[in-house]
Amino acid sequence: MENAASAVPVTRALATDAVHAGREDLAELGLHAPPIDLSTTYPSYDAAGEAARIDAFATTGARPEGPPVYARLDNPTTARFETALAKLEGTESAVAFASGMAALTAVLLVRASMGLRHVVAVRPLYGCSDHLLNAGLLGTEVTWTDPAGIADALRPDTGLVMVETPANPTLAEVDLRAVRHACGSVPLLVDNTFATPVLQRPAEEGARLVLHSATKYLGGHGDVMGGVVACDEEFARKLRQVRFATGGVLHPMAGYLLLRGLSTLPVRVRAASTTAADLARRLTTDPRVARVHYPSIGGAMVSFEVYGDPHDVIAGVRLITPAVSLGSVDTLIQHPASISHRIVDVNDRRSAGVSDRLLRMSVGLEDVEDLWRDLTEALSARPARSAPSARNGSADGRQPHPVGR
Ligand SMILES: *Cc1c(COP(=O)(O)O)cnc(C)c1O
Repeated sequence: MENAASAVPVTRALATDAVHAGREDLAELGLHAPPIDLSTTYPSYDAAGEAARIDAFATTGARPEGPPVYARLDNPTTARFETALAKLEGTESAVAFASGMAALTAVLLVRASMGLRHVVAVRPLYGCSDHLLNAGLLGTEVTWTDPAGIADALRPDTGLVMVETPANPTLAEVDLRAVRHACGSVPLLVDNTFATPVLQRPAEEGARLVLHSATKYLGGHGDVMGGVVACDEEFARKLRQVRFATGGVLHPMAGYLLLRGLSTLPVRVRAASTTAADLARRLTTDPRVARVHYPSIGGAMVSFEVYGDPHDVIAGVRLITPAVSLGSVDTLIQHPASISHRIVDVNDRRSAGVSDRLLRMSVGLEDVEDLWRDLTEALSARPARSAPSARNGSADGRQPHPVGR
């Protein structure tokens, strides 16, 4: 065994960090699985020491040294997930929230609290992110532009530039280096939910803020909701203070599940991406499909426009689950114009490339042939309204649809 004193920091591969980051102290603690700390409060007989910790947090926003005083300041289990995600994204820090929307809210509030209420954003974004910016719910004002128009859209009070790449739901990609250049000194936020750090690390391209709906690939099993912002420690401190003041904390059980999810993230994303690329290829040559969207960087999301009624495809799947959300071990399909992007004004939606015939599929870990069989049968499904019996099929609901529909 190597002498610990001679050990130098080594750069490890992402797959190794995914399994080990945030767990460095476990052996020392005599543990293998990370402990879950569900405390909402922490006992202390030293009120002066508590006061000093509270003051330190209020002035700096640094993680408290010693017990966190109260769970809205910090939680050791959630902190393990934050440490691990920061490692994977290549940032100094990360701050976790109750959901992706809570994370975006905190970023906007940090900037608005500095008087920087203007946001420049590129469509399409996830429907609710679009809505949060467009409705001005947090007192922000948004200018929508394409990537080439970012520099001209900046104002003295611009606090943030926001892009999503690959974007939800069209999988449109932006050149992060070019966008970063156009931002000048304004922080660039990249929503990296679709790519995950396995396929893309926006901080390496100069993004100051990397946002995730952890509900998706990071959790990976459709059973935990969370959000996280990976960034430098200076911004993280402001985010922690906003999180403390507004309360959008991640539950420690969710922190545990997200840390566990990260350990299989590279394996899940690579396996699902291989299947998604295969399905995208098959859909491209299918006469029932008008257009396929698949990112140049790969990934487990495939979007496609059908010639027929997209609602018939949704009604026709049996193995694939017709449901919103993404990034789970099982394959999901949904109709963005009806569900994920319903909240976006119809004209804004269409001009952002979200066609009414677009379907968005999140490919899971099932066998590609089983998925293709289900998809191709759903594409042939007769309109559900005129033939209700065809939707039910046989008792197990997976009987191939009769030929000729
Ligand atoms: C789902 C999603 C969000 C919102 O995250 P929640 O965890 O649902 O609040 C933000 N961005 C993208 C790209 C998403 O897919």
